[in-house]
Amino acid sequence: MHYFNYKRGELFAEEVKVKDIAKKVPTPFYLYSKNTLIRHIRAFKSAFKEINPIICFALKSNSNFEILKILRNEGFGADCVSLFEMKKAIEAGFHPEKIVFNGNGKTEEELEFAIKLGILMINADNEEELELIDKICKKLKKRIKVSLRVNPEIDPKTHPHIATSLRESKFGFDLKKAFSIYRNASRFKFLELKGVHIHIGSQITDISPFKEALTKVFDFTTKLRKYGIRFEYFNAGGGLGIVYKKEIPPNLKEYAKVIMSYSRKIADKLILEPGRVIVGNAGILITKILYIKKSSCKKFIVVDAGMHGLLRPALYGAYHEVRLVSSRQKAESREKFDIVGPICESGDVLAKERFLPGNIKSGDLLAIFSAGAYGYVMSSNYNLRPLPAEVIVDGNRFKLIRRAQNYRDLRRLEVD
Ligand SMILES: *Cc1c(COP(=O)(O)O)cnc(C)c1O
Repeated sequence: MHYFNYKRGELFAEEVKVKDIAKKVPTPFYLYSKNTLIRHIRAFKSAFKEINPIICFALKSNSNFEILKILRNEGFGADCVSLFEMKKAIEAGFHPEKIVFNGNGKTEEELEFAIKLGILMINADNEEELELIDKICKKLKKRIKVSLRVNPEIDPKTHPHIATSLRESKFGFDLKKAFSIYRNASRFKFLELKGVHIHIGSQITDISPFKEALTKVFDFTTKLRKYGIRFEYFNAGGGLGIVYKKEIPPNLKEYAKVIMSYSRKIADKLILEPGRVIVGNAGILITKILYIKKSSCKKFIVVDAGMHGLLRPALYGAYHEVRLVSSRQKAESREKFDIVGPICESGDVLAKERFLPGNIKSGDLLAIFSAGAYGYVMSSNYNLRPLPAEVIVDGNRFKLIRRAQNYRDLRRLEVD
């Protein structure tokens, strides 16, 4: 569900005509709907309200400051994967006790920052990291809560690049190793090994991989209980999928029911780390058609957004719906186009074989849907193209929440 709708052929973001925003903000730009975001946040909270979990938004999916402030105001915590994500979360007002720190390559500097800050928990990814955390704690004379990220070795049935729980995945401890670490936890004097964490992948549109993973974690914790080891926290990660095309992801209630039924048996308190499901459909990317090009066998629409603005299609063949911002009055014939960006790479294709009106022309605007998660955050300066602007709509008003980069921004970091 989102508030990007057509009225008499014109695309509106809430009550604002997208065309009117494009008169003020140069394309390409990301466009968010505040009320869509809030709707998703509240639906997620409400699905879990029975047990009131700690919901840590995955900053890596979208870390615009304005968006973070909205999430914080709605009571969310933050799931961070780098030093700057932690710094930004703090600056946006997230309480340290609602911040979790994830990742398989945390540096000593990052860990020290997290420990000094007194965050809720570090989710550790390997044994050496545990030793390092213990050493830093000793130096700082502090303790910290730690969960082991375990790999339940299941297939989440999503794109291989966003599956994180296959046996060969780089993430997490295998269960056997984790078992022995929990049993010998006392060797880490400064760690409180109070939790267990999983994150099985992203854009998961079937409930069964979640069930499979939860069953494995439950069995694992049951075995540990025999040794008197109980968990205070279970972190179920994120990963719930959204509709890009015609997927039918589990609805929030169904997802919540499954997670809650297991989490009660695994630990006292539940932590969740949703990203995509919160922001994915709250943002679109607006781009302008530069050229219509016909080659001997194909028709191309060349637009000013490309893989530098939205990497997902090039990175993992992701599908995004593409529509005209101002749709044509007359119903005319539709033709098949590839929609491509301006980057000097053959892989710079945003959408393949899409049917759009045959009389589409340069200067027309296109909207690329479901671009709110893993959109802006993955954009790059490749070909020295500036990072795009971001705009948010609230009712009948819109506001720039990040300007596009200019040439000076790009040159500023160089030392000559
Ligand atoms: C990426 C990530 C998330 C968020 O995943 P979504 O699919 O966006 O919900 C949560 N937890 C961890 C550890 C992650 O790496």
